[in-house]
Amino acid sequence: MENFIVSARKYRPVTFATVIGQASITNTLKNAIRNQQIAQAFLFTGPRGVGKTTCARILAKTINCRNLRPDGEACNTCESCESFNKSSSFNIYELDAASNNSVEDIRSLVDQVRIPPQSGKYKVYIIDEVHMLSQAAFNAFLKTLEEPPTYAKFILATTEKHKILPTILSRCQIFDFRRISVEDIAMHLANVAHEEHVEAETDALHVIAQKADGGLRDALSMFDQLVSFAGKTLTYRQVIENLNVLDHDYYFRITGYILEGNVSRTLLTVNEIIANGFDGQHFVTGLGQHLRNLLVSKDDGTLALLETSANIRSLYAAQSSACSAQFLMKALELLNQCDLNYKVSNNKRLHLEIVLMQLCNLAVPADAGVVSAANPKPETSRKVQSAPVQSPAGLAPVTPVPQSHAAPPGSVTPTPVAAPSPVPSAAETVQGSKSKVVRTFSGVNVGKIMKSGSVTGEETRDDSEAAAEVLPETRDQFTQNDLERVWEPMAKKVAATQPNLYNTLTCRPPVLTDEFKVVVTVDNKIQEGEIFHRRGEMLSILRESLNNWGIQIETLIADRPPESRKPYTDQEKFDNLAGQNPVIKKLKDQLNLDIDM
Ligand SMILES: [Zn+2]
Repeated sequence: MENFIVSARKYRPVTFATVIGQASITNTLKNAIRNQQIAQAFLFTGPRGVGKTTCARILAKTINCRNLRPDGEACNTCESCESFNKSSSFNIYELDAASNNSVEDIRSLVDQVRIPPQSGKYKVYIIDEVHMLSQAAFNAFLKTLEEPPTYAKFILATTEKHKILPTILSRCQIFDFRRISVEDIAMHLANVAHEEHVEAETDALHVIAQKADGGLRDALSMFDQLVSFAGKTLTYRQVIENLNVLDHDYYFRITGYILEGNVSRTLLTVNEIIANGFDGQHFVTGLGQHLRNLLVSKDDGTLALLETSANIRSLYAAQSSACSAQFLMKALELLNQCDLNYKVSNNKRLHLEIVLMQLCNLAVPADAGVVSAANPKPETSRKVQSAPVQSPAGLAPVTPVPQSHAAPPGSVTPTPVAAPSPVPSAAETVQGSKSKVVRTFSGVNVGKIMKSGSVTGEETRDDSEAAAEVLPETRDQFTQNDLERVWEPMAKKVAATQPNLYNTLTCRPPVLTDEFKVVVTVDNKIQEGEIFHRRGEMLSILRESLNNWGIQIETLIADRPPESRKPYTDQEKFDNLAGQNPVIKKLKDQLNLDIDM
């Protein structure tokens, strides 16, 4: 059996140029070496596994190299370099202060320092975890550090700079090592994988890099462990299962449900996550991270803060466009509160569920721009009536009167005269069809009840929506034809990045009913949700182009698929063409052709 060398050692850099993610430090060191201005003592600080000891060893080797290259790197071929590379040089002395922190240990080191190097120019003393030295040991060391012989160089390394005495700090040149970026780690892992003939998915390497939290050594250890488990192919799925990382897919899904205001699906998904053995608090912080990523993807300037692979980046961009920055910030605040109180909560599960319900309500306030003509379930309607929503007609309890929520009594917001009061009864019999009208979002109401006035979700509504409600009272008349004329360009604009939504909006013409209500017939709840998300944009385009601020959008779930369905199968496409031009059918018959299925 061949000897296994862990990747962190096997791929340990041997030149400054190959050190990952610390370019500013290695450049400074190379310059100092080239200019022969090497300090007597260095302090390397930074998190673990980012290259402190590696740089110390390279520095020791380089200053002893006999044929220094012009760029300040060691030649790696001279006698001195070779002995360093084989770890057999006498000019390097490493002390791990974590286990050798007594005065005696330092005294023996100080004794060593007195002896000049037998060959080479410098003796280099690397003291790792130097903050672990006892007070007495520090004091014993101080004298040597103050007046070292010219051939002695000290490199102190620590993860906790604040524990180092100021008297030591002032005698060292200090280098702060950075956490290594996820991108850099992932790239390095990809190189290692290539060298080891391991086929690794990019996303898999990114998960490892994220989990390593800036430490390259940790990342390489995880990589080794995963490869020994998975063999020569490393997939995203294997990695998340082994590292106990929650699949990003869950976060995308649950955020989608939250944005729909779908409480039941949200809770079911969390149940699934917890049933799979994930810690609730982990989930809360993970969801926070997810929303934070959505927030930074909103702005090109902050896009650099998104440390993920390119294909996940595009997923973030898509979901980010479906929610407002205000929602994200408010949601992050709620999640942060949940995280802080999680440990002290007696019923952690409920604690988690409450915050999710609040998030759902935050995303889709009960009185959003889509008017429901549905007859909600009796229990739901009772709950809603307890909220101050009461349409003038006294019918259809879910029908919102927009201002009633936005402006609490006594506020100075314009009084509720601007918006039209939708007449709900008209919508119940749209087209006289037997279609069901569904827009209840029963879950939202649960969310409202849970709050019991503690968090005022009503005030967190989208600014754009609030603005839409106090817009002028202009109500230009328009016809069904006018509506269809502006509908297609509106759909094109709103659904520019969402082909599904475009199809949903255009597969059937919208229907204008009285009171400027626009009824969009859809096939299912998913399509309804898609429209619901973008209703704000849709409304503002329609209202503007038709100069009518009374327009409302309503969705209707159809019993049947659209009659004028777009041709999909080859047969349908042929029939469609033949319908437009009978010659085609003739041609087919005469040549005795078949449709190739
Ligand atoms: Zn050399």
